[in-house]
Amino acid sequence: MALILKNTIFINWETLEFKSTHLKVEEGDGGIVTLFENVAEIQISPSDEIIDCKGKLVTKSFAIGHHHAYSALARGMPAPKKSPTNFEEILKYIWWNLDKALDKETIEASAFTTAMACAKAGSTFAIDHHASPNYINGSLEIITKAFEKVGVSHLLCYEITDRDGLEKAQQGLDETEAYLRNNQGLVGLHASFTVGNETLKKAVDLMQKTKSGIHIHVAEDKYDQEHCLQKYDKRVIERLNDFGALDSSKTILAHCLHINENEREIIKNSKVFVVQNTESNLNNNVGYFNSKGIGNKIMIGTDGMHSNMLRSTQSAYFVGQAKDKIDFVSAYKRFRNVHNYLIINSFQGDGENNLVVLDYDSPTEIKENNFLGHFIYGLNSNHVQHVISNGKLIIKDRIIQTVNEDDVLKFTKELSLRLWEKL
Ligand SMILES: [Zn+2]
Repeated sequence: MALILKNTIFINWETLEFKSTHLKVEEGDGGIVTLFENVAEIQISPSDEIIDCKGKLVTKSFAIGHHHAYSALARGMPAPKKSPTNFEEILKYIWWNLDKALDKETIEASAFTTAMACAKAGSTFAIDHHASPNYINGSLEIITKAFEKVGVSHLLCYEITDRDGLEKAQQGLDETEAYLRNNQGLVGLHASFTVGNETLKKAVDLMQKTKSGIHIHVAEDKYDQEHCLQKYDKRVIERLNDFGALDSSKTILAHCLHINENEREIIKNSKVFVVQNTESNLNNNVGYFNSKGIGNKIMIGTDGMHSNMLRSTQSAYFVGQAKDKIDFVSAYKRFRNVHNYLIINSFQGDGENNLVVLDYDSPTEIKENNFLGHFIYGLNSNHVQHVISNGKLIIKDRIIQTVNEDDVLKFTKELSLRLWEKL
């Protein structure tokens, strides 16, 4: 079975070349996409699905560089018992309280709602960082099943940390090792300030043994650096580098707000990718991302705030006008770099048969040489009409095809109330 998209304006995601064409999209990981000038040339079999796109824009779907499905049920939750006054307290009173309350069903509900939100906003792939200290064993498998049911590909990890003691850290390592036996994924670490040398060494050993990469928060707040300098007499990037965590092109460093020139140089000369999360940084009031001196391997994430990559990129662009050096081209490159990360590392699920059809009602002309102006100022997730994941139509006319959205939302609402009662 194939999917035929008739009458499209196809935008090549790498060159931004526009082409009026018809597409035949094969199903499955790595399925081929063939472009046809004339509809008559397409061999159509009775089982093929045909969509007339009527001149709408079609391009590669999106992917999220750093996400937290576990926080999906936080929206609208009661205020913490004590108001946080700094980043550490935000973690302690809000996020570490929430992740400790997660169980099997609430992890599942969080994953379903996240996968649906990703798909509806045009993303068919998410790199996720999961934490549930009181339900560690098997947690990644629960997320995998939910994501795959919706049709969103994934690169998951469990957040290994000493914050709840070495026994829990070991459980995180065990969960990671078990998961990586049968799945693509990463070795997740919370952050330098909650990971001691023993756990850090074990995590990097596991990374090497499984030929994977580390996925860690770096210098999100100044505190991460202060702690590292005080305890280890070195800075966070130096510490991670000394342990070998940066020796993999699969390694992802989230945030990197408070890093000095030497750390920027180390990142630039390494194979790792950095992921910026502008809105999350604004929300936590921890500082601003600046790309100076760290090279071009920069991706964009949503950090659990939402699942909307267009919004995250536009925020990075707008905040970056004052705080970073970012223009239309570099904003778009950061938005799309996640695909390069996935290609370089041969991860599955993000081939050319992942597409989005945009119902973009522009009041002005849109073409190759002004597309990026539309990308920053015009396009938003409301324009996502159809989404194709690994050749399969998972969103059709803005409606999820793979699961019953009403049933899922009823389930997640019930579960969110149960979660909030435990906070
Ligand atoms: Zn994060």
